[in-house]
Amino acid sequence: MTADRPLLEVNDLKKHFPIHGGLLGGVTAKVYAVDGVSFDIRRGETLSLVGESGCGKSTVGKAILRLFKLTDGEVRLDGERIDNMPAGKLRMMRKRIQVVFQDPFSSLNPRMKVRDILAEPLINFGMPHRAAEIGALMDKVRLPRDAINRFPHEFSGGQRQRIGIARALAPGADLIICDEAVSALDVSVKAQIINLLADLQDELGLALLFISHDLATVEHLTHRVAVMYLGKIVELTDRRTLFARSHHPYTRALLSAVPVPDPLAKRNRIILKGDVPSPINPPSGCRFHTRCPFVFDRCKIEEPLLRSVGVGHMSACHLDEIPGGQVVPGTA
Ligand code: SF4
Repeated sequence: MTADRPLLEVNDLKKHFPIHGGLLGGVTAKVYAVDGVSFDIRRGETLSLVGESGCGKSTVGKAILRLFKLTDGEVRLDGERIDNMPAGKLRMMRKRIQVVFQDPFSSLNPRMKVRDILAEPLINFGMPHRAAEIGALMDKVRLPRDAINRFPHEFSGGQRQRIGIARALAPGADLIICDEAVSALDVSVKAQIINLLADLQDELGLALLFISHDLATVEHLTHRVAVMYLGKIVELTDRRTLFARSHHPYTRALLSAVPVPDPLAKRNRIILKGDVPSPINPPSGCRFHTRCPFVFDRCKIEEPLLRSVGVGHMSACHLDEIPGGQVVPGTA
């Protein structure tokens, strides 16, 4: 391990789910949920994975957590491969990668008191789980210590999500995967949870993989953004560049839908036609070509590769090879 090596490295990750059918129940088709995704995350960094429902972003999170086997590719934590780790080692690795789920109502056991919810991961990993440790976790997520004897239904949605974050912090995680962790919350509560995550990142040097369908949500939290479409990353860059100078037509369409607080501001909204195609039979060439307003012949035949278009800025669009081609009229 070198000092400047990323905490997490995901290389050419693929996850294809088989579909069984027919008389003999054989594999009749595959869902190409994730099809060659690569990125890394450094300590203390937030990378957001953004895209519409069904683009494969949550599957990436589950693959990193090793909730299933990869079809291909590799995942490394501190340089060590974790996608093929034996069960015993994998258990200790799980201490370092934790998850916060979308729904704070169903992700906490309604029959357990907060004290027991927070003690559970500590017990699982053989760590001390006295009142002092549980109380310290409550302090970290800004909840009163005396609330540990309450049940989840006695808390609001935002408070429950704080408990979910405390549970993720309990074993001393280095990386937290936040899978739509604020999507189910009201706007003001959402902002409080985002601020809490940012504070915890500063305090503990946490790395965050923030999975969201909404670019507006990640704008104030993230360092870098990877935009996914139909199982692939189409653009990856730092937050500032993405919001000021995005290249990919899909990213520009997503950005054009982000609400602005000024009712008089002029918007150049890009309305995408049609639905996201099925990942069972993705389109040839560029997967976005069936909906892209700038499609040309080459897009239907040749898949654009994710290539560098600036410092730390990657985009997968044939327009990037045409001088000035990435400047989509009316959206610059
Ligand atoms: Fe659109 Fe073609 Fe670029 Fe794909 S490669 S995003 S279809 S212009």
